[in-house]
Amino acid sequence: METKWIHFENLQEKEEILREAAGIIRQGGLVAFPTETVYGLGANALDEKAAKKIYAAKGRPSDNPLIVHISSVKELDELAVEVSHAGKKLAEAYWPGPLTLVFPKKPQVPDGTTGGLDTVAVRMPSDPLARKLIALAGVPIAAPSANRSGRPSPTTAEHVWQDMQGRIEMLLDGGSVGIGLESTIVDVTGQIPVLLRPGAVTMEMLESVVGHVEIDPAIQGPPKEGIRPKAPGMKYRHYAPRGELTLVEGEPGAVAEEINRLVKERQEEGRRVGVITTEETKNRYTGGIIRSIGERVHEETIAHNLFAVLREFDDLKVDYIYSESFSQENLGQAIMNRLVKAAGYHIIRV
Ligand code: AMP
Ligand code: MG
Repeated sequence: METKWIHFENLQEKEEILREAAGIIRQGGLVAFPTETVYGLGANALDEKAAKKIYAAKGRPSDNPLIVHISSVKELDELAVEVSHAGKKLAEAYWPGPLTLVFPKKPQVPDGTTGGLDTVAVRMPSDPLARKLIALAGVPIAAPSANRSGRPSPTTAEHVWQDMQGRIEMLLDGGSVGIGLESTIVDVTGQIPVLLRPGAVTMEMLESVVGHVEIDPAIQGPPKEGIRPKAPGMKYRHYAPRGELTLVEGEPGAVAEEINRLVKERQEEGRRVGVITTEETKNRYTGGIIRSIGERVHEETIAHNLFAVLREFDDLKVDYIYSESFSQENLGQAIMNRLVKAAGYHIIRV
C-alpha cells in the first residue's frame, strides 16, 4: 500500500483533503492524524474489520483496547450505556482535551475496538484538525498512538512515517504535537473514579473536580502475574527504546556523579551511551551523547520532548541510556510513568 503524506500546515485545500481522509475512514481504511497529545492511528470505531487493521498495522496484541475519539459530547450517546455523575463532571471540565474516560459500552461498539471488554474508552480531542476529521467522517474514530507496538509514541509526522509508511492509506501532517504524552485515562464506571494512566490532566486537576480519585496499582509498579489490569495496555512493555534505559534517582550532584561513572564504565567496554538530562543540570555531564529534554521549571517542555529524544537515541543506535528522574507531582507523574515503563522499572537510587 502506498501511504499519502499530506503536509497540512501550508495547504490551501484543507477541507478537501479532510473530506478525502474522512472518506478513507468511512470505507474502513486507516488515517494517521495529529492530536494535542500524540499522533493517532485512526479507523472507524464501529467497524470491527477496520479496528483489526489497526492491530495489524501496529503489530499490537488485539486484547489491548483502543480509545474512541468523538467530536462532540452528543456522540457519547451511541457509545456509552450510562454516564456517571463523575464522568459528566470530568467531561464538562476537561473536554475537549487530553482526558479519556472509560464507560460501560453499548452493544454496537464491537469487541474488536474494546479488546473484548464490556467498557469503552472515549476522548474528545481539542486539536481542531482531529475534531474536524471526526465530524466529517460521521463516525467515532478508534485511534491508538500511531507507532509500531513497543516503540515510543509519535509526536511528529516523521515519527509516524518511520513506523507506518506503507501500512496506512494517509498521514495528515500537522507538525509537532503540543503535549507529547498520551491522554490521562480515568475509569468512571464505579463509585470512585480510578486513574488508569497519568497524563496532562493531572491528579490535582481531577481531584479538584470530583474529589477523591483512586490510582490503579499498575501505574506504580510492574504488572503482577495473573492479574488482568484494568487498562490492558499496562501489561505490555511500552515505550521501549532499543537501548537499555536506566533511571538514576537522588540529589542532582550525586545523580550526575553516578551517571558519569556509569557512562565511563560502558564506554570502556566499547558501548555507545546516551544521557537524558535537563537545562538546569546538563553542564554536570562529562561523557556520552548528552541530550537535554527541557526545563525542570517548565515540566511541559520535558513532556513535549521525551518521546522524540527516546527515538533519537534509537536512531543513534545507543546501547545504554542513563536518565535523570523527575518529581512525581503534577505533570511529573505522567513523565515518570512513561520513563519508568521505558526503563522496564530499572531505577538506581543514589
Ligand atoms: P494508546 O491508544 O496507544 O494510547 O493506548 C490506549 C490504552 O487505553 C490501552 O492500552 C488501554 O490501556 C487503555 N484503554 C482503552 N480502552 C480501555 C477500556 N475500555 N478500559 C480500560 N482501559 C482502556
Ligand atoms: Mg500507545
